[in-house]
Amino acid sequence: MNLAVLGATGSIGASTLDVVSAHPERYRVLALSAHGSADALLGLCRVHRPRFAVLSGMAEDRALRARFGELNVELMFGRRALETVAAHPGCDAVMAAIVGAAGLPSTLAAAHAGKRVLLANKEALVMAGALVMRAARESGAALVPVDSEHNAVFQCFSNKDSVRKIILTASGGPFRATPLEKLDAVTPEEACAHPNWVMGRKISVDSATMMNKGLEVIEACHLFGLPAERIEVLIHPQSIVHSLVEYVDGSLIAQLSNPDMRVPIAYALAYPERIASGARPLDLAAVKGLAFERLDPQRFPCLEFAYAALRAGGTAPAVLNAANEVAVEAFLSRRIRFTAIAAVIEDTLDAVAPTPASSLAAILEADETARRKGLERIALREAA
Ligand code: NAD
Ligand code: MG
Repeated sequence: MNLAVLGATGSIGASTLDVVSAHPERYRVLALSAHGSADALLGLCRVHRPRFAVLSGMAEDRALRARFGELNVELMFGRRALETVAAHPGCDAVMAAIVGAAGLPSTLAAAHAGKRVLLANKEALVMAGALVMRAARESGAALVPVDSEHNAVFQCFSNKDSVRKIILTASGGPFRATPLEKLDAVTPEEACAHPNWVMGRKISVDSATMMNKGLEVIEACHLFGLPAERIEVLIHPQSIVHSLVEYVDGSLIAQLSNPDMRVPIAYALAYPERIASGARPLDLAAVKGLAFERLDPQRFPCLEFAYAALRAGGTAPAVLNAANEVAVEAFLSRRIRFTAIAAVIEDTLDAVAPTPASSLAAILEADETARRKGLERIALREAA
């Protein structure tokens, strides 16, 4: 299978290349992408020898092209190149592991072109779930979720008519037990220190605010065709039970493993078969206990914003996503406080009325408007 790894220099990219390297007889790396880190991408090309490499955040650079050329790698520049490799006739599967809205066009291109889409980039479904799902249906593309919760549900899900609900688990992140009055002063470093997973900075902050679970609720609605009220969230601090499906007979089916993204990545790569992932097997007897608890909406207001955006429909989830992206960025660059992330999102959702999400253009326009409004709100908070 010829694989394009988009977002190869990130956390999911690294785990993907680790799994792929262990199975050279099954997988060949066709293309790798990074946004700006040319040296890191060149290093990966030395190891994996793809046919193509993409630097999506850079303009044409002849000297760089020559350096990649020495490895027989054709280097492409600019974000359109992501769509080109995602839809390339020589490509069988695309690992969509770019972070944020930037991952949408290439994910959609892969879905349109009928590729197997290994979907880590949840923002694509949040923004344009109906479009991506329709493209996959029409082209016959297999869309296999990599997000650990959705991958778990995918593994446990059969016969939709007998499913009562889906339960997504959430670790609660680094601030699950932090006194509420202290949340105002937490730093980006503290927010990025997730207790169970090592991830990119944006998703780490999303996990700390619980917006990550909000995005995942929206993602689950699209992937499994269920309404929001049949998707529940439970806190599960150990991150061993990755999610559950409840059936009409009262059975709950869950997928368990150590928290290691190579498990869902290996599953998505080999589905419907299974291959070794490199993850340590789960020693159940050594697990001290598995706890589950309801979530405190006062501590985690972002989850409710996601349900509200789903109810509002149309471009509201795209607005939610864009407001979150600019707010997280502003928090990471120390322009706003942690608690202001939720406030910026709430204000932006109030300020931007949803329109029908009928085309990519309409969605990208909503994304742009929401970013502008969100940045205005951020500037006001900075000034205050
Ligand atoms: P990361 O920050 O570690 O890596 C992001 C990758 O995207 C890098 O290769 C970077 O070069 C590239 N990139 C960044 N901005 C870009 C842009 N504007 N255009 C093109 N490429 C760009 O992120 P990550 O943690 O690997 O997460 C990637 C995606 O997978 C996210 O959507 C995240 O929500 C999802 N996800 C991650 C995990 C995890 O454990 N890390 C788990 C579930 C889902
Ligand atoms: Mg997840």
